[in-house]
Amino acid sequence: MSLFDKYGFNKDLLESIKKLKFIEPTPIQDKVIPEILSSKVDIIATAQTGTGKTAAFGLPIINLTNNREKTIECVILCPTRELCLQITKDLNVYSENIKHFRIVAIYGGSRVDTQIKGLKQNPKIIVCTPGRLNDLIKRRRVDLGHIKYFVLDEADEMLSMGFKSEIDIILEHVPQNRKIYLFSATLSKKVTAITKTYMKNALTISTSVANKGADTVKHIYYVTKQSDRYDIIRNIIDVNKDIYTIIFCRTRRETKDISNNLIQNNYKASVLNGDLSQEERDRVMNKFRTQQIKILVATDVASRGIDVNNLSHIINYNLPDDPEVYVHRSGRTGRAGNEGISIALVSKREQRRLKEIERLSKISFTRNNPPTDTEVFETQIHTFASTIIDAPLPNEEDKQTFNLLYSKLNTLTKDEIIGKIISLNINRTKKHKKEIHKSKSDNIDKSDSLLTKLSINVGRSHKMNPESLIRLIKKTIRLRNAKIGKISVKKSFSLFEIERLPSIRSLNVF
Ligand code: ADP
Ligand code: MG
Repeated sequence: MSLFDKYGFNKDLLESIKKLKFIEPTPIQDKVIPEILSSKVDIIATAQTGTGKTAAFGLPIINLTNNREKTIECVILCPTRELCLQITKDLNVYSENIKHFRIVAIYGGSRVDTQIKGLKQNPKIIVCTPGRLNDLIKRRRVDLGHIKYFVLDEADEMLSMGFKSEIDIILEHVPQNRKIYLFSATLSKKVTAITKTYMKNALTISTSVANKGADTVKHIYYVTKQSDRYDIIRNIIDVNKDIYTIIFCRTRRETKDISNNLIQNNYKASVLNGDLSQEERDRVMNKFRTQQIKILVATDVASRGIDVNNLSHIINYNLPDDPEVYVHRSGRTGRAGNEGISIALVSKREQRRLKEIERLSKISFTRNNPPTDTEVFETQIHTFASTIIDAPLPNEEDKQTFNLLYSKLNTLTKDEIIGKIISLNINRTKKHKKEIHKSKSDNIDKSDSLLTKLSINVGRSHKMNPESLIRLIKKTIRLRNAKIGKISVKKSFSLFEIERLPSIRSLNVF
């Protein structure tokens, strides 16, 4: 007898649960499943990743929508394509014994006509990313008029990725009497705002402390100039021999520059950003998951779907605009009781933004000095010495083979041999330093030349300051991650530098 029997699921579902070897419901499942089955209230559920949320909503919703009606009865919204495919796969496994039961995945970056065909086959559940679903709503290719259950999975991620307006539009097309089930790792302000707008008397279910970074993560920061950041990253990698890390950047260009430089400097690194085709992304993610590549340079958006959580380090090449994003980034390390380290590289001015993150997410940062070239050098010596110390001595046969070598080196004393080993090592390190400086200057030249000067028709008289201006620019061009250079706010207009946007000369906001 399984502990899932008590919910009264149909026998096809129980069969799948048995096959999946789910013996006991997880705490979140035990709280959520009976509530969804009775369909009386909306639910706000917070739980850490890996606590079985998919089955918590998936199993009862499949049980409830298992009928011959030709209408879609459930929408599940999630932030990324990868998650969308994962949820669809899981739900297909749960419902595999129910013959007529269809689930369709609706996500961007893939052919829309195939998805439209899927919709014509009368799915009971659709699992969607907000952008693509919105698109299909606009084209009138999907009918949400019979939706009874509306799931927002990883709501905090969806909102911090800027999907608020899409979610609003989608909810307008769903009947008023639908139930909403919202799942989130954190209850951020944005999540709370959604719950207030759309949910009434919702039941809050929590199996973890909301809004808190993992205790096993040590948050440290280095105060540094932009131009020193690449060197620091190299030093971090060099002093942590077994590093398994994601380096988070704000722009695609940054990810490309850093990963190119790392690769040129013989590190096994890869880039993950929106420029990659779906196939390339899958390949990179696979290599990273299997640790063939242990350094990934990524934008936040591109790295959303990666289900890799056992990283040794998170490196924030720069701070994200949104404090919640920092919590998500750093949450990928320090899992399963292992200690993880999240490092933020910040400028002097950005230090106060750390305070904001500390306040909102109840984590605390420690300021450290970045690893110096001397520490890198010491690590190299240490590694080199260990390699020699740990190496086995040759057996008699090998000794014979290398007889000539023995007789050649026999003239040297022990001190001389060690001395020569050291000077070989020092030479290597010197060369290494030269490379750093070369790639550093390459890097700066490249990024600076790619900034364009633009003007915008607002200034001090519109109560603009550099910060509000940056927000406005990003909103106007709809590029949250656009890299912005120098800003000068004049009386009635402002000038700013921005990474090249070929078709735009000036921006008008009214
Ligand atoms: P979350 O969405 O909370 O991050 P998932 O729903 O992806 O977590 O589940 C994490 C893993 O736990 C999955 O591999 C899933 O198959 C497994 N799992 C879920 N529920 C149970 C259960 N009751 N018993 C055993 N394993 C479970
Ligand atoms: Mg999940």
